[in-house]
Amino acid sequence: MSLVIYLDGEFVHEDQAKVSVFDHGYLYGDGIFEGIRAYNGRVFKLKEHIDRLYDSAKAINLTIPINAEEMTEVVLETLRRNNLRDAYIRLVVSRGKGDLGLDPRKCPKASVLCIAAAITLYPKECYEKGLDVITVATRRNIPEALNPKIKSLNYLNNILAKIEATRAGVLEAIMLNQEGYVAECTGDNIFIVKNGRLITPPPHVGILEGITRNCVMELARERGIEVAEQVFARYDVYVADEVFLTGTAAEVIPVVSVDGRNIGSGEPGTMTKRLIEDFHKLTQSSAAGAEIY
Ligand code: PMP
Repeated sequence: MSLVIYLDGEFVHEDQAKVSVFDHGYLYGDGIFEGIRAYNGRVFKLKEHIDRLYDSAKAINLTIPINAEEMTEVVLETLRRNNLRDAYIRLVVSRGKGDLGLDPRKCPKASVLCIAAAITLYPKECYEKGLDVITVATRRNIPEALNPKIKSLNYLNNILAKIEATRAGVLEAIMLNQEGYVAECTGDNIFIVKNGRLITPPPHVGILEGITRNCVMELARERGIEVAEQVFARYDVYVADEVFLTGTAAEVIPVVSVDGRNIGSGEPGTMTKRLIEDFHKLTQSSAAGAEIY
């Protein structure tokens, strides 16, 4: 089945959704994106994703040619045109067509596209059994060079880490920051549980401030769980009672081993399972998103 794609003001079939080879998103990774999900006819945390998109644009000095309300409508209309109620949505804003030099002033207009498709990231058994992950040698970008808060099209840092992970036979990688503290994974944020406390690295460590991360912290607080944004090292992950990852695509997923060390009993932990349940409930609730129809 051919998807209908939004591209610069038009809805076209996927084989007609073409961008220029001179687009600086392609030539230089100059652009930004968002990954969003729709559940049961509602787009989960759409406002938060749109706000982050415009913040990323601001940070790279990119003018998005449509406003936030129009962007919201682009997402909803793309879902409608594809008849999707449960989907993964990709919004991309690239610097647009320029010349072969890297000067963004040569790109008069940013290009906007939206793709909506039905996908899941990890096989179902990973959610039940949990993931094995490793720590990789590739460090997370330092904020002073390319701040991980910017969801930029330049994902090479994460891809290099992903290559290390898949070569080692696991699906995700823990990335450390320049000081050796735990930052995040290639496409997810990380949480550890120790003595009933939920701990996740603070933004200044150099992470994308995940929307799922923020939801999970809120859900945990609602349950009366103590939540801390605190710097921690690889050691703290090894000796944690539970570990899990959060992200729009991955949702909430347990980790059962890190660098060959079993986490806790080597099975998904109780708090993790509760938060997975709470998160699923939230994604299905009418308060959690914008209605598609
Ligand atoms: N970190 C990175 C590097 C990511 O790419 C993602 C996925 N967007 C996340 C964390 C999780 O963020 P979110 O929960 O907003 O999807």
